[in-house]
Amino acid sequence: MNYIMDTIQLPNSKGYYGEYGGAYIPELLFNNIQELEANYKEIISTEIFKKDFDDLLKNYVGRPTPLYYATNLSAQYKCKIYLKREDLCHTGAHKINNTIGQILVAKALGKTRIIAETGAGQHGVATATVCALMNLECVVYMGEVDISRQATNVARMKMLGAKVIPAKSGSKTLKDATNEAIRDWINNPNSYYLIGSVVGPHPYPDMVARFQSVISSEIKQQLKQHQNISEPDFVIACVGGGSNAAGAFYEFIDSKKTKLIGVEAAGKGIDTRHSAATMVLGKDGILHGCKSVVMQTSDGQVIEPYSISAGLDYPGIGPLHAYLGRSKKATYLHVTDDQALEAAINLTRKEGIIPALESAHALAAINLLSPKDTDVIVVNLSGRGDKDMNTYLQHLSY
Ligand SMILES: *Cc1c(COP(=O)(O)O)cnc(C)c1O
Repeated sequence: MNYIMDTIQLPNSKGYYGEYGGAYIPELLFNNIQELEANYKEIISTEIFKKDFDDLLKNYVGRPTPLYYATNLSAQYKCKIYLKREDLCHTGAHKINNTIGQILVAKALGKTRIIAETGAGQHGVATATVCALMNLECVVYMGEVDISRQATNVARMKMLGAKVIPAKSGSKTLKDATNEAIRDWINNPNSYYLIGSVVGPHPYPDMVARFQSVISSEIKQQLKQHQNISEPDFVIACVGGGSNAAGAFYEFIDSKKTKLIGVEAAGKGIDTRHSAATMVLGKDGILHGCKSVVMQTSDGQVIEPYSISAGLDYPGIGPLHAYLGRSKKATYLHVTDDQALEAAINLTRKEGIIPALESAHALAAINLLSPKDTDVIVVNLSGRGDKDMNTYLQHLSY
């Protein structure tokens, strides 16, 4: 099947989704971005690209991932709940769909050194993995705090041959790592900057959404087989930058039937100053090269986000989501650390699946909906919980 979909008319030629998106970049990055912008659509529409991408997704990542009917969860919530099992992807999350796509673009552009930044470590692992596969040099920036929260992923990256550089400024988390990765790219314009979510300057949000759209094109086909329908009533996905949600929503963005639910991390609560719920707490602003909704003070300083899950600990949101949310084409909810932990243990005990903490936020949001018993809900299970075992053990009593 053809994984590169081109069904939605977004963004426009300048990379805008409504008023969000664009490319707000320092002059020193102009040529790098221009090179990518001028070439990405052509590269990804070549037969050779499509063949390589399809083949790697199938035989290396293990796609299509199952759409699993969760019998016990469905009985609990009295509706039909399907889990899209991105947790079963090679390396344990959806991120590798995107890194495979971008590494093929980087190769087509003749790049031999890859720069990435990572929060939970999942994007770093996915990038280091494909760099090992393609024999490319890999440099990963990671906040010092995240390095200590995600020691296993750091070890995996190092074993895969990547150089992991700690970001020691600011909150020492993802946004600081992103700043340092961009600095590296300015100094090394012959490297390829591999962004892990639907964020950053145009064309990244569009390119990443296209690569992740494999998730919703599979959901569509699989629902046809399971339920003889092609559109569910709800699609629920957690949102850090928003790539797994963009992928899970993509095919349903124009649907009159499907309600799209993005779930952000409320952290300790949206009025505690320890939160990452950008769509409620943020205002329009520019972060990392695009216009979107950003958590910021009244004078425009970025507010440090907080979530129990490193992958959702981001003060912005991709411009596609800013647009979908502000135009009410999708709904953005938020759940707290505690609600996510409770949903994680519930899924584990009910279905024997330990989810990533990020994905547990999507699961917790089922409690915020009032589904009818005939409703079909697809929850995008973005990743597995292995990387979060220390956090789970600290918070749960057995
Ligand atoms: C990184 C990550 C996320 C958040 O990133 P998005 O771009 O919002 O998808 C969610 N779940 C898992 C398992 C992750 O690793």
